[in-house]
Amino acid sequence: MTLGIVPGPLIAAYHLSAGFAAFAALVCIVVALSGIRIRGIWWLAAMCVASVGSQLAHANFHVAPDLQTATDAQRWQNAWSTGQMYALIGFLVIYTRLRHWRAFLTISGVLFAIMMTLTIQMPPGGRFVGEYHSVILTFPWGERLQMLRGELSNSSLIGRATFFALFFWGFYRAAIPYAKEDRTGSLVISLGLLVLILSTALGGLIETGTLRFVYFGNYGYIFLVLLALYLVVREILASNNRLKLMASALRNELDSHRETRKEVQHLSFNDKLTDLPSRAGLFNLIHKPIARAKQQHSQFAMLHIDLDRFDVINDTLGPSVGDQLLRSVSQRLQTLLEGDDFAARMSADEFIVIVNDQPAAAEAVRLADAVHEVLRESFIIEQHTLHVTASIGIALYPDDADSAETLLVAADLATREAKRQGRNCTRFFRRELDEAIRERLHVGNALRTALTEQQFELYFQPQINAQDGRVTSLEALIRWHHPDSGLIEPGRFIPIAEEMHLISDVGAWVIDESCRLLAGWRDAGIHDIRVAINLSTQQLHQSELLTTVSDALSRHGLTGKDLELEITESMVMEDPDFCIEQLRQLSALGIRLAMDDFGTGYSSLSYLRRLPIDTLKIDRSFVRDIEINDNDAAICATTISMANTLGLDTVAEGIETEVQASRLRELQCDRFQGYLYARPMPAPAITDFLRHHGQLAGV
Ligand code: C2E
Ligand code: MG
Ligand code: MG
Repeated sequence: MTLGIVPGPLIAAYHLSAGFAAFAALVCIVVALSGIRIRGIWWLAAMCVASVGSQLAHANFHVAPDLQTATDAQRWQNAWSTGQMYALIGFLVIYTRLRHWRAFLTISGVLFAIMMTLTIQMPPGGRFVGEYHSVILTFPWGERLQMLRGELSNSSLIGRATFFALFFWGFYRAAIPYAKEDRTGSLVISLGLLVLILSTALGGLIETGTLRFVYFGNYGYIFLVLLALYLVVREILASNNRLKLMASALRNELDSHRETRKEVQHLSFNDKLTDLPSRAGLFNLIHKPIARAKQQHSQFAMLHIDLDRFDVINDTLGPSVGDQLLRSVSQRLQTLLEGDDFAARMSADEFIVIVNDQPAAAEAVRLADAVHEVLRESFIIEQHTLHVTASIGIALYPDDADSAETLLVAADLATREAKRQGRNCTRFFRRELDEAIRERLHVGNALRTALTEQQFELYFQPQINAQDGRVTSLEALIRWHHPDSGLIEPGRFIPIAEEMHLISDVGAWVIDESCRLLAGWRDAGIHDIRVAINLSTQQLHQSELLTTVSDALSRHGLTGKDLELEITESMVMEDPDFCIEQLRQLSALGIRLAMDDFGTGYSSLSYLRRLPIDTLKIDRSFVRDIEINDNDAAICATTISMANTLGLDTVAEGIETEVQASRLRELQCDRFQGYLYARPMPAPAITDFLRHHGQLAGV
């Protein structure tokens, strides 16, 4: 039997929509597989696939050539619709985050499976009661399609009602509450569900023949397919956006990371205070001049600049002033640099300058002179006017050392030499310095044990009254009985003891031992003799000196009148205010103060007047040539007359001949000291000496 079917636009619409659903299914699957996370995407994909089947089954049904084929097609149509419905529910459950989604999907899954089996088993879906027949729908545009007619069964009504309820439920879950969260998504879902609700209602009318049209309920699903595409596109755009944001955040993060790394690197190679390269920075930078010198067979110079007495400024004016001074010094240093030259800061008051110009030695000297010159101008910091000098050591690469480390040691040795030679000067590294330093280190180490093992002894040299020849005082001169090297003179170890900061212990021992021996002589009946003790620079600058001296005096039952302390001019110059105050306090104890080696230092009269000095000791060097050198004779004469004017005693040191003695006596020098009268001798020998001199009571 031929029904005279004529497919037209309605069938084409079914096919087109099936193709559209297939495309959407493909997109959903690809997107889901690519890892872009969209809530419920797999369910949407399943719904799209079911929609493809459903639309094709509808088309097949309408163009079925006979009742049997139409019945078969209807079977598939119902099966696909059930699938669509289940996939839609799955999507809604996941999309709207239903709380018990697992249980819900499992139970509804079982129900739908039963429903699907039934619809396949009972063609056409158990929809009609009894007989049903096919009718041809003729549309105004000439299309002729098949439909089935019959009395609708109860199960069909129940099924329809269930679908109805589920659509309403979906509408309630998705469309209304989610309108705020996702306006467009919810609009598309609502529209799809509305079409489904309407068409489910109309489906009944169509199937009973009240309405003569094809079943278009499925197009609600096509709306939902549209939703699937919309969600996917939106998510792709959003994730693209997120990627962009992430990329830009990452870029920012990287930038700031790079900044911090730069900063950390800068800090690890640069000094915070002056921003000059640090020790690490120097070692980093010095490779260049080394490589260049190697390549061009040339030299470069390293200047090691050490500020003199910076610690005094730091200790007395505080670290803030010290820091500002260092910053100013570094700024002045930088003004002297040219071309590839660079400066670095090694430690608190030590700077390094690398000079690349040729000839290296001459350029280094030129720069060192410039450094001394640039420091000559005073620094004004927090109302303090500060004068700074520097000791500079120069070492040349590769002549003095062949690596950065050894070059630094060589330059440092040269600086120590400059310091030893009175500071504020420049010295080149010499091989012998290395030896000298080794020797100094050796002596320094031995000095530490010398005190504990009582290797020191005091010798005494008498001072004689120029008029009556009586001994007025005894100068204590330290000697070191070294277990291997024998007797060592103070000139060899006192400077090292100073350098190694051991001098205050040694000095305290000298003060105590002098007092102890003098107390012994007192007990033996010697009364009118003082002991003269030499002080070192460091001792004079320590505030403990006063207690050390007064403790020793009281420990041995002596008074200040029994002591004379010898200082030199240069000791006072370093911190005049403090020293003058310290000397005043010593003087207040009744202790006499003598200016040793007078004439060799600054000989500043203005200071001399401010110092509470009682005695001037004319240096040996002027006494030695007094007979032959008119200059020296004049200096002695002037010193003595000046001392007389100021009311000071004079002592001439190092008198070895009668002629020297008589010349000085003529100039009215008060006291004499020298080999002519006595060499420095150990304490027991002094007792004998005094006995022979008739100064020991009872002799
Ligand atoms: P100074 O205080 O100027 O001591 C005088 C130095 O001249 C002594 O050398 C003494 O032996 C030496 N002398 C004395 N008369 C003559 C002479 O007629 N001809 C010659 N050529 N020399 C003479 P000494 O004992 O070697 O001491 C050297 C320096 O060591 C002292 O110079 C003093 O500055 C320092 N010194 C000695 N003992 C001590 C001490 O206990 N503490 C400190 N801080 N320094 C000391
Ligand atoms: Mg002396
Ligand atoms: Mg002297």
